[in-house]
Amino acid sequence: MCGIIGVYGSPEAARLAALGMFAEQHRGQESCGMAVSDGHVIRLRKKMGLVKEVFTEEALAELKGSLAIGHVRYPTKGSATAFNSQPHLLETLSGPGFALASNGDLVNYQEMRARLEAESVYFNSDNDGELLLRFLALQMQNGAGIIDAIQALMREIKGAYSCVFATRTELYMLRDPYSIRPMVWGRTEDGTVVVASESCALDTLNVCERKEVPPAGIIRVNESGITIIENDPKFYRSHDTDKHCIFEHIYFSRPDSHHFGENVFAVREKIGALMADNDKDLRPDYIVPVPDSSNFIASGYASRLGIPLSLGLIRNHYIGRTFIKPEQTIRDESVRQKFNVLPNFFTGKKIVLIDDSIVRGTTIRKIVKLIKAAGAAEIHLRIGSPQVLNPCYYGIDTPSREELVANIYDLEQIRQRTGVDSLVHLSMEQLRQAVDSPDDYCYACFNGDYPLSRG
Ligand code: AMP
Repeated sequence: MCGIIGVYGSPEAARLAALGMFAEQHRGQESCGMAVSDGHVIRLRKKMGLVKEVFTEEALAELKGSLAIGHVRYPTKGSATAFNSQPHLLETLSGPGFALASNGDLVNYQEMRARLEAESVYFNSDNDGELLLRFLALQMQNGAGIIDAIQALMREIKGAYSCVFATRTELYMLRDPYSIRPMVWGRTEDGTVVVASESCALDTLNVCERKEVPPAGIIRVNESGITIIENDPKFYRSHDTDKHCIFEHIYFSRPDSHHFGENVFAVREKIGALMADNDKDLRPDYIVPVPDSSNFIASGYASRLGIPLSLGLIRNHYIGRTFIKPEQTIRDESVRQKFNVLPNFFTGKKIVLIDDSIVRGTTIRKIVKLIKAAGAAEIHLRIGSPQVLNPCYYGIDTPSREELVANIYDLEQIRQRTGVDSLVHLSMEQLRQAVDSPDDYCYACFNGDYPLSRG
C-alpha cells in the first residue's frame, strides 16, 4: 500500500508534491521520495522516513523544477530498504531521463521480470515500480514512442497500478484496467495539474476540478496541454466491471477522500448503520469506536440507534500505524502505547465497541483487555467488514493466509480469545449494500474471489 502524487506546471512543484504526499502520509510511512524535473535534469531524493523529515526546506530548495512525482511507501516485511522506495529513476546518455512511481501490486511480476532479465534487463530492487519503468525504457530503446510503450506495458502486465511516469518535460498518469487503487486528478486555479492517490491530497493543494483517471486510461500532460487517452478497458480485462478495492473504503483511505464514485466517510457511516439494524435491542450505555479508522463506522451505527457516540478510547497520534512490525512482541507493545482509556469512564458499563476489521487479531485483543481492566461490565464487538480470510495480491499488505486469525479459529473461538460478550461482523450482503455499484468492487480478502489470478 502506497500513495502517489504528480504535479505539472508550477515553479513550486516540489513543494506542492511534498504537501500532497503529506496529505497521503497515512498510505505509507516507511519511506518517501520525489523526482523533480527542471526540463533538463531530473533530480531524485528518496529516503526512509516521513515526508516532513525527508523533505525539509533545504531538501526542497535543491529540487528545482516545475514537474514533480512523489511516493510514500508502506512498510512491508523484509524489504525496508531505500532500494525499494520510489520513485525509480533511469539514466539515459544525456542524464537522468525517466522517473516512475506506482501504487499497487502486479500479479505477474515474477514472469515479467524473468522475461526482462532474459533480455538482459537487470534490477536494483524487487519493486513493481522499477519493473514498470524498465519495461517502458526497453520498449522505447527498441524504437517505440512513449504512448505505444505504455500501451504495450498495459497489455503485458497484470495487477493493480496507479502510476505516475515522468520524462524531463512530460507527466503521464496510467491506471490499471480494473482501477483497483484510487487515482484522481485535477487542476488548480492557476492551471497546475495535480494527480494523487486520494482526493484529500488534491484538497490540500486547492485543486478545484477533479476527476478519476479512467480505467486503463493514460493521461499525458506536456507543453501542448492535457491529452486523455481513454483506452477501452475491455481490451485489457476479462470482467466487464471495475474491481475497486473495497478495503480502501473500509479502512485504508482517509475519510475525507472521494473516489470510486463514493465519499469514503459516507460508505463507512452506511456500514455502521447497517450493523446497527441488527442491534436494535442491544441498548448499550456507550458506543465506542476504535479511533481513528472506525470513527465513521461507529458514528453511522450510533446515529442509527439514536445513541450519542462516546470517544472512550484515546489514540496517541504520534506513534504511526502498528499493523506491520517485524516482531509480534514489538507490535503488541506498540498497541499498548497507541491506545488509552478515559479515566472512570468504563466502570460497570455495557459497551458496543466498533472496529473496522480484524486481521491478525492482535490489536483488538489488546484493546478489549484495556477496556476490561478499566471496569467495563459487557463488551459487544462489532466489526465493519466480513472476516478477512484471504491475502490481498493487489497492494494491501495483508499477512499470509496462515496468519489471518479467521483462518486459525472459528468465530466463537475468536470471540472467546478476544474476551468479548458478543462478536458480529458486517455480512458480505451488507457490505455490498454500503456502496452504489457493488459489482465494481474486489472483495477477494473476504470471499476469495480474485479478479486476477497470480501468475
Ligand atoms: P490486527 O487484527 O491486529 O492484525 O489489526 C487489525 C487492525 O489493523 C484493523 O482494525 C485496522 O484498523 C488495521 N488494519 C487492517 N488492515 C490493515 C492493513 N492492511 N495495514 C495496516 N493496518 C491494517
